Amino acid sequence: MSDGTEVRRSFKYKMGGPKGVVMFALFFTVYTFYITAKCQTGEWDLLDFRLQTNDGLVAVDLKIAAYIFLWFLAQCFLYILPIGGHREPGIILPSGDRLLYNTNALTALTANIALLAAAVALGYDVRRMTSSLVSMYKASVFLCFTFSVYLYVRGGTADERKKNSNGCSGNVAYDWFIGRELNPRWRSLDIKYVLFRSGIIGWIILNLCSLVENWTTFERFNSTLLLLNMIQLTYVADYFWFESGVIVSRDIVHEGLGYNILIQFVMIPFCFCVQTRYILTNDTRLPNTAFCCIAIIYTTGYYIYRRSNSEKNDFRKNPNDPKLWYLQTMPTSSGKRLLINSWWGMCRHPNYLGDLIISLSYALCTGFSHVVPYLGTTFLVLLLLDRERQDNNGCKQKYGTDWDKYCRIVKYRIIPGIY
Ligand code: NDP
Repeated sequence: MSDGTEVRRSFKYKMGGPKGVVMFALFFTVYTFYITAKCQTGEWDLLDFRLQTNDGLVAVDLKIAAYIFLWFLAQCFLYILPIGGHREPGIILPSGDRLLYNTNALTALTANIALLAAAVALGYDVRRMTSSLVSMYKASVFLCFTFSVYLYVRGGTADERKKNSNGCSGNVAYDWFIGRELNPRWRSLDIKYVLFRSGIIGWIILNLCSLVENWTTFERFNSTLLLLNMIQLTYVADYFWFESGVIVSRDIVHEGLGYNILIQFVMIPFCFCVQTRYILTNDTRLPNTAFCCIAIIYTTGYYIYRRSNSEKNDFRKNPNDPKLWYLQTMPTSSGKRLLINSWWGMCRHPNYLGDLIISLSYALCTGFSHVVPYLGTTFLVLLLLDRERQDNNGCKQKYGTDWDKYCRIVKYRIIPGIY
């Protein structure tokens, strides 16, 4: 029988196959629910599973879902607006296509912040939002699930060249989770990229709501909350400023758009705001020495993260750029050269190391009383360890024995001298 059964047998499943992805879908959804409930209620004990809100576990508020959907449409509109950015080509895809992206995320972020500021100035009470985090999360999951079903159906009739080879096993649950299409688009609008941008913008908006809530409650700012808001806003502004590096990142280029990536984008606002919510609800205040230590840790992480990413991005754009005279490279049979000194000679992912240090600095802002604000950093460690393995496998496929040779030259994966 030469049918789907054959295809399924030869297909190389990731994440534990169909059963594994169902477990991952449940885990991501429930974990984010747990963090969101803590962010709303301010109950930080790790083992306190009570949902101390008036929301039921499952019921979805359709009005909130409609607001979130409208907000997402506004993000789509901002993306297609020909202002505040330019059209930038992404990486050449396995299909041979090279997609164009509108790189105006910083403008979109500014517009969102300005809108929030205007709403607050006109008397909008941000507590309406921060006291409804659980309802907002449930509505987001509802939209996310509905959208993933749409994407699954749409993927069935997509052009073969645009399909995600890792998400076309023939198993419904698996393909729904991994995503059958790589970069689904509505005309020039890249759905995956706008969703990703929206998740990050949502995180900053929730952070700023905590800051406004702090002011309206105490009529002064908590300096630790202010510091954390500033460093997280700086990180995101930098991320968007160097947007040409984002559109060639792993999620945007190699991951299919299914429930897996959708729920991870939903996790960004609801899980990443955990530290600001923690500081707000506990009124945590750090002593000046801790303040300085965190500033040093963050600056170190940021320096490693930014310098290493910029070095690789500049090299990718123009390997013969005279300002990169100090870089040593290794030729590969694909024609591309790999960096083997400076940041990329210390380890294979110095940018992940910088990101981890930055994430640790966020958690440290909350002190040492509870574990929950540290779960995000733990999650990022696991995510980046897995991502490094996946990237390693992808590069091994791409560069063959040249990659083995490269790994012998650059021995460490993420932490020089240790790992
Ligand atoms: P990288 O930016 O590290 O890109 C990996 C790719 O770079 C490889 O596939 C290869 O692509 C190229 N490359 C690797 N080594 C070399 C070398 N020595 N010389 C030249 N090119 C090389 O990975 P990601 O896309 O995963 O990450 C992008 C950013 O996003 C990172 O800064 C990461 O920290 C951040 N991130 C943040 C998260 C968060 O939640 N805070 C989560 C995930 C990522 P090619 O062969 O095609 O050139």
